[in-house]
Amino acid sequence: KLYNQVQDLKGSIRVYCRVRPFLSGSSYLSTVDHVEEGNIVINTSSKYGKGRKSFTFNKVFGQSATQAEVFSDMQPLIRSVLDGYNVCIFAYGQTGSGKTYTMSGPKDLTEKNQGVNYRALGDLFLLAEQRRDTFCYDVAVQMIEIYNEQVRDLLVTDGRIRNSSQNGFNVPDANLMSVSSTADVIDLMNLGQRNRAVGVTALNDRSSRSHSCLTVHVQGRDLTSGAILRGCMHLVDLAGSERVDKSEVTGDRLKEAQHINKSLSALGDVIASLAQKNPHVPYRNSKLTQLLQDSLGGQAKTLMFVHISPEPDATGETISTLKFAERVA
Ligand code: ADP
Ligand code: MG
Repeated sequence: KLYNQVQDLKGSIRVYCRVRPFLSGSSYLSTVDHVEEGNIVINTSSKYGKGRKSFTFNKVFGQSATQAEVFSDMQPLIRSVLDGYNVCIFAYGQTGSGKTYTMSGPKDLTEKNQGVNYRALGDLFLLAEQRRDTFCYDVAVQMIEIYNEQVRDLLVTDGRIRNSSQNGFNVPDANLMSVSSTADVIDLMNLGQRNRAVGVTALNDRSSRSHSCLTVHVQGRDLTSGAILRGCMHLVDLAGSERVDKSEVTGDRLKEAQHINKSLSALGDVIASLAQKNPHVPYRNSKLTQLLQDSLGGQAKTLMFVHISPEPDATGETISTLKFAERVA
């Protein structure tokens, strides 16, 4: 059964959608009419009147979905890293839609509200432990940020953030840190978060305008045959996908917006051409897709996790997010 599940996922692209709850707690008119299994129905209103539009994905999580439920759905995918697969998980959506909540959790982190990255690492350690009579695993992580098409290593301890000059996650200039427990991972994530905050001005929350990526490298040695398996997983919290009105921003803000736009559409193009089994996959059009090239396509498994807000004033962005996702599904 598990084997079949893994086979099903092989080389495939999956698209999930999650609706975040209302933050005020009040449930005024929602953009989301209803959610069922793989379907989400949106209330669209325009000058032509009220309407509804339905979108279909592999899975849709409504407002009440818990972190544990979301993780348990992704668990087989994540576990396949220990079998030597490459996995990419992207969190896509406008700023404030819940990307960081899904991938990391909220600011007041507890065991219950931990996001995918903590749970994934914890689960990999657990499974590695269960297999210790047959396999010996080494796990190491990297954390980088892509801002304006520049790569920064977030796991530096000397306080000096280096820009990576080369492509690829295995480059020696992005620190690769060995981890053997969830506590190690939490320490590193905290370091990454602190480094990420460097250079943030009071006005600009840079984290919403850069892509951050936690990469987990796993090497397993079969204790009987000595064979080595290598797998890797990229957990990517993408920059906010909201469109910026070009007439309203200038200078650095415009440049940022253009870089984000370019890299998100490059990612969409890559995933769409993989989904369509197009022989030409345009990896070269952005730093993000160049970096992830080895883990996108081929035997790799990709999950695009789109996030939407329920507030009616975000309906325009919500529809464009769902259209983006529908294109890659
Ligand atoms: P993004 O990373 O897309 O900008 P965040 O993850 O920061 O968005 O979410 C915005 C706010 O909504 C945060 O305060 C976050 O804790 C909260 N939030 C997001 N998703 C959920 C959820 N599923 N349940 C409860 N709170 C959420
Ligand atoms: Mg965020």
